[in-house]
Amino acid sequence: MQQSLAVFGATGTIGDNTLDLVDRHDGRFRVSVLTAHDNIAKLATLADKYHPDLVVVSNAAMADETRAALSDYSGEVAFGASGLAAAAAYPADIAVMAIVGFAALTPTLALIEAGRHIALANKECLVAAGGLIMQRAAQCKARILPVDSEHNAIFQLLDGRNTAALERVVLTASGGPFLDFDAHALAAVTPDMAKKHPNWQMGAKISVDSATMMNKGLELIEAHHLFALPPAQLDVLVHPQSIVHGLVYFADGAVLAHKANADMRIPLSYCLAYPERLPLNPAPLDLVQLGRLDFLAPDRKRFRCLALAEAAMRAGGLMPTILNGANEVAVAAFLDGHIGFTDIADYVEAAMESADRHGQTLLADDFEAALAQIIACDFQTRENTGHLIAEKRAK
Ligand code: NAD
Ligand code: MG
Repeated sequence: MQQSLAVFGATGTIGDNTLDLVDRHDGRFRVSVLTAHDNIAKLATLADKYHPDLVVVSNAAMADETRAALSDYSGEVAFGASGLAAAAAYPADIAVMAIVGFAALTPTLALIEAGRHIALANKECLVAAGGLIMQRAAQCKARILPVDSEHNAIFQLLDGRNTAALERVVLTASGGPFLDFDAHALAAVTPDMAKKHPNWQMGAKISVDSATMMNKGLELIEAHHLFALPPAQLDVLVHPQSIVHGLVYFADGAVLAHKANADMRIPLSYCLAYPERLPLNPAPLDLVQLGRLDFLAPDRKRFRCLALAEAAMRAGGLMPTILNGANEVAVAAFLDGHIGFTDIADYVEAAMESADRHGQTLLADDFEAALAQIIACDFQTRENTGHLIAEKRAK
């Protein structure tokens, strides 16, 4: 049976991996919807190859370039927020949500309201609004399958298992490219250095997050919502080889671990075919060749972003939204060469402290009120962090 796919953020690295799986399983999937933000040339190539029914460019300012680039494409073209709403309304069998950042929240909620099967790669929407997302998904019977490799690992470990005796869930972290750097060396890290991850090929934003270890902090909050676990039951272990992706500890002392090569197509294919499994084994995991697997405790002093995210998770309310908004702005400023690598944690901490001082972290009980609060809080945090960065640069 052929399944139709809507790929949100199709021009990114998760988009590449998704479309690679489509190519490998000839006829199994049909690409019906593609969205991109501003990589029009790549989007046009994909539209030529897959002939989707709908193509969306979320950056509405690119309408003229898009129409020119898609002159050979005969399907529907839409733009901006209404375009993303049309993409979410398209009745695809599976939606892959691979837009980066908070921008994924509105289309993800629209997919949930439509009761879709969602392969969710985006983590920022769960960090900023995970409680609302999971609540709505349960009400609307939308199925959210986690693409993020650690969460996909935990999902596989817990699926169909009695979790009454579950004690602890541990996410592994590669530690990023600067695992052994001291504070002085970290301060000198450049965007080009931070964009090169030792084990994974990823977009620029998540590569920087991995290098600061904010990524693992965001993932703890992601797991807190996806698996309805309290912060005290969640932990992080550094594992530089990225072979073990997650571990679950049970009360009887048994610990189950999920192992796979660092290849995003493995968790993605699980989400696309669930509850089946697709054949995919380009490089079987060779434990003899690996010889050893190393594990160490994370250093929260050098990687302050991890500690900040853990504090935001424990605080709850709007604090994770603030953490995420400030981080998105600070990472973009770092990538633009406007701030240093270790400044990212400073700006995130400043945003969290300011919100705490002003008592601005309580979240309403009512869904609509809470959603409006989260959107306003994200906007305000971006404004504040942007102003702080501009002020500091002007000095
Ligand atoms: P990427 O930067 O390579 O691609 C992002 C995609 O989102 C692009 O198609 C881009 O056009 C689109 N986009 C960017 N800004 C947008 C906006 N404002 N509105 C709508 N669309 C926009 O990112 P990626 O590495 O593919 O990651 C995508 C998401 O998946 C992120 O949330 C990331 O944390 C998560 N994720 C990625 C990986 C990975 O291996 N790359 C692993 C786990 C989770
Ligand atoms: Mg991950």
